[in-house]
Amino acid sequence: MFYVWYNSRMEIFGQQISQGVAIGELYLFDSFAYSKLSSTENSSLTAADMDAYTCAKEKALDALSKLYEKTLAQVGEEEAQIIDAQRMMLLDTDIDDAVGEAFEREHDLVKAIETALEGFATSFETLEDEYFRARVADIRDIKVHLLQALSSVSLEIELPDNAVVVADDISPSQTLSLDRKKIAAFILRKGSPISHTAILANSLGIPALINTPIDNKQELVGKTVVVDSIKEKVILDPTLQEIQTAKKCILELEKVRKQADHLRGKVTKTKSGKRIKLYANIGSVDDVHIAVKADAEGIGLFRTEFMFIGKSTPPSLREQFEAYKTVAQAMSGRQVIIRVLDIGADKVAPYLNLEEGENPALGYRAIRILLDDEELFKTQLKAIYMAAAEPNCNIAIMLPMITSTWEVEKSISCCKEVQEELFNSKLVQKRTEVPIGIMIETPASVLIADELAKLVSFFSVGTNDLTQYTLAIDRQGSQKLSKYYNPHHEALFELLRLTASAATRNGIWAGICGELAGDLLCTQNFIDWGFTELSVSPQKVLPLRKQILEID
Ligand code: PEP
Ligand code: MG
Repeated sequence: MFYVWYNSRMEIFGQQISQGVAIGELYLFDSFAYSKLSSTENSSLTAADMDAYTCAKEKALDALSKLYEKTLAQVGEEEAQIIDAQRMMLLDTDIDDAVGEAFEREHDLVKAIETALEGFATSFETLEDEYFRARVADIRDIKVHLLQALSSVSLEIELPDNAVVVADDISPSQTLSLDRKKIAAFILRKGSPISHTAILANSLGIPALINTPIDNKQELVGKTVVVDSIKEKVILDPTLQEIQTAKKCILELEKVRKQADHLRGKVTKTKSGKRIKLYANIGSVDDVHIAVKADAEGIGLFRTEFMFIGKSTPPSLREQFEAYKTVAQAMSGRQVIIRVLDIGADKVAPYLNLEEGENPALGYRAIRILLDDEELFKTQLKAIYMAAAEPNCNIAIMLPMITSTWEVEKSISCCKEVQEELFNSKLVQKRTEVPIGIMIETPASVLIADELAKLVSFFSVGTNDLTQYTLAIDRQGSQKLSKYYNPHHEALFELLRLTASAATRNGIWAGICGELAGDLLCTQNFIDWGFTELSVSPQKVLPLRKQILEID
């Protein structure tokens, strides 16, 4: 999915959670927080400890209420809800009980709070559900609020200007209490793309990388650094030339952002009047809110596999149903294309006990697994059809990694069986029409596109895999291969042209949902070739709308 490495030029690679480019000064956030917190351990607490705890809790609740008000006024309702959720967690008496128990053992309130809250955080960390794992930062945040209230030590942080904040992870309220004007970027060693921190970094427009193996050495403090989260890299001690390039990028991005902002709510069509569906790609339920904010007209790719990886069992029918319904309803009846499980290769689910092939990208993955594992496939399809029957849900199904017509035929009959089963068992009241489309990710699917088009309602080109399979270049490959990864290769363009024309000939629509969809240099070509839908990451929606409005 992503990979990290060091190379000789001190470039460090991570995973993007919020797009942008920044030049700044490294600031080690963790060492500061640690030293401040350790100082509270000197408190010699007496028999009135539990009173002190109650008082600290009230102060912490008060501080969270103030932060809630500030966030509501200065940032937005969605972000303020994060703080409100922390307030609710702190009101939970389970926390009081756990602190009480820890206090009996530790005889030290600071340690008891540490132990109790860390206990919750650790047990959340080991939970299978990614949603709960992403809440670990909230629990640690509550701990900091309690300790801060108890010790009266202010954790207010004086950031230098243009701070590139480095931390293991950073909690939502820490993010919100930092002076936004001084933060240039975040580099986190850990983190999750669906954490609140990721949502906040996005809505505050702060470039951010997670899972970035940057050292925690004091000598790094104050060093100049370029963070390019679009290329998912950090350059330590950049050359003058690298700084100039980064400055150019920042200006360019700013220009594009300013020009694009007033395009919210506008219809996406070219100067000659061609209407283009401008959709967003998401990888989790939480992402849909970012897509809505970005003014996406639909979801062109919901990568459901992220709900399945890093767990010991697949999500249940109910969990999946809730997830699909939530996403579809958040889009208020606009189309949501749910890609069925594209697991395998770099996306691993241990419970499937898949063999590790020599060439995983060419191995047992995606539709190949689903067609063999009826229960896995049918459970997902059931959840999708049940969600599609809910009010205000406009859902389509998309099949990944297709190479042959029989795969599509077999998948469609699976869909029909599921529909009947649901209807007969009264789990749905009517047979809702759910369009079925396929991803065009293999050269084989392009070459038989005419036959495939007769079976489905739409095509969506996955240019990431199509490039990999066409140019015979591993997506996960080393830097040595990067010069061969040419997304503008004529062979790839020819495959795109063939796909769009087969779709047009057969009366179905074709779109693109791979990274290339957001490449503004190609937009005119895509539209000329006949693509009518482009699906991009939420941050690229408005810049792409601007581009479409300006072309013929
Ligand atoms: C693609 O291959 O272009 C695509 C959109 O799917 P993924 O990146 O999830 O493989
Ligand atoms: Mg793909």
